[in-house]
Amino acid sequence: MTGAWRPDEDDQQRGASGPVRVRVPAKINLHLGVGPLRADGYHELNTVYHAISIHDELTARRGDTLTLTMEGEGAGELALDDSNLVIRAARALAAQTGRPAHARLHLRKQIPLAGGLAGGSADAAATLVACDALWGTGLSRDDLAAIAAGLGSDVPFLVHGGTALGTGRGEAVSPVLVRPTSWHWVVAIADGGLSTPEAYRELDRLRDTGDAPAPIGSTDALLAALRQRDPAVLAAVLGNDLQAAALSMRPTLAATLRAGAAAGALAGIVSGSGPTCVFLTRDADDAERVAGELTAAGVCRQARPAHGPVAGARVC
Ligand code: ATP
Repeated sequence: MTGAWRPDEDDQQRGASGPVRVRVPAKINLHLGVGPLRADGYHELNTVYHAISIHDELTARRGDTLTLTMEGEGAGELALDDSNLVIRAARALAAQTGRPAHARLHLRKQIPLAGGLAGGSADAAATLVACDALWGTGLSRDDLAAIAAGLGSDVPFLVHGGTALGTGRGEAVSPVLVRPTSWHWVVAIADGGLSTPEAYRELDRLRDTGDAPAPIGSTDALLAALRQRDPAVLAAVLGNDLQAAALSMRPTLAATLRAGAAAGALAGIVSGSGPTCVFLTRDADDAERVAGELTAAGVCRQARPAHGPVAGARVC
């Protein structure tokens, strides 16, 4: 890796003297194929990640210790200690570059907690990018993604953003190269969260008892649909093996999916391990309309239009 911190250098000469602000998106999975359980306890995944325009924001300032404050979604519910992915990410970057983990970090959260939108992973990715700029460690995106993989399966994707194929446990990411197209979504945020590990356990249980639908398999059809740039074509191939588990754990999500179909969305799926549901629409106006109808139907806490793909964690 490049840019390692050298103790003989005046720390104030490197990096940013003022605050560094980083925006990071939420992710959805256009395709989430869950393979068998591996010996290490993870499932083999075959997924297409997609970054959407719901953002958290992390501000990093110089400090004499490592501190974290937070506002917005989940403030007061989330510990701000070493269990927080923000603190873990700052420590991981410091350890990797051999410098002290000193920063005052402030998180503004819009991504709901445990919502299936990888908010915690997004915050970890934002922290790596922010501290890299604050400390002047100058790592490449690939270097940051390598540290990110040790923090969680979705974190490398959130360093990169866009639309990308994820394999392994999701941490091996390669960009999907297609002509730029904006897709328009409605994100239906539920009350409360669902635990990702519990959703995987529920899927294993449903598969053991023969109650899970057939696995969605390869990403070939999804990748072909992305190239066609037609939302009706993409709508037909969206899929999520974890959806059955999320519906089993939270049966009311079926009503949310039905309401989206009734409102004229092209397709609706549970995002990741849920309970957020996402709906593909024709265009930005259609997304506004579907969001309005979902809100009026009272089937979710909040329905927000969003578009994708957007960039990963970036200094703004
Ligand atoms: P994933 O699919 O990656 O599990 P998710 O959207 O379902 O994502 P997250 O919001 O990422 O869920 O949070 C999962 C858990 O991670 C939380 O319940 C919380 O215990 C822990 N966590 C640690 N740090 C954070 C953070 N900064 N923001 C959100 N959750 C965090």
